[in-house]
Amino acid sequence: MTDRPSDQDHGLPPYPPSASGAFYDAIAAEGRFALQRCADCAQFLYPAHDVCPSCLSTDLPLVDAPPQGQIASETTIRATTNPYFQDRLPIRIGLVILDCGPSMIAFLDDGAGMGDRIGVSFRPDTFGRAMAWAK
Ligand SMILES: [Zn+2]
Repeated sequence: MTDRPSDQDHGLPPYPPSASGAFYDAIAAEGRFALQRCADCAQFLYPAHDVCPSCLSTDLPLVDAPPQGQIASETTIRATTNPYFQDRLPIRIGLVILDCGPSMIAFLDDGAGMGDRIGVSFRPDTFGRAMAWAK
């Protein structure tokens, strides 16, 4: 049983809050772009991890990260059954390969497309949830 109404009935964000998502929500509210970085091997991580996949360290502080990358692929979503996204259609998203290593799915600003060098940011949505954007 859940203590929140159905996503399908009320247009809420498609996922309930999570501990790792709270990292990015706070960063988005501050207007920063930060990722976890392993204190032992220096690898940047995204999404949030409990353990470094390279060296198994658990010392993974959140640090400002270089916000540049390249769009490796893109698509446009024109239909969805999720009320949260229905008011936002069409939605352009892409796979961004960050210069610092990780890849992420990001919303694409107008004019950003496959192959483009872009800057990425976390922006809060209307619920304060961090959304990755490429511009
Ligand atoms: Zn590591």
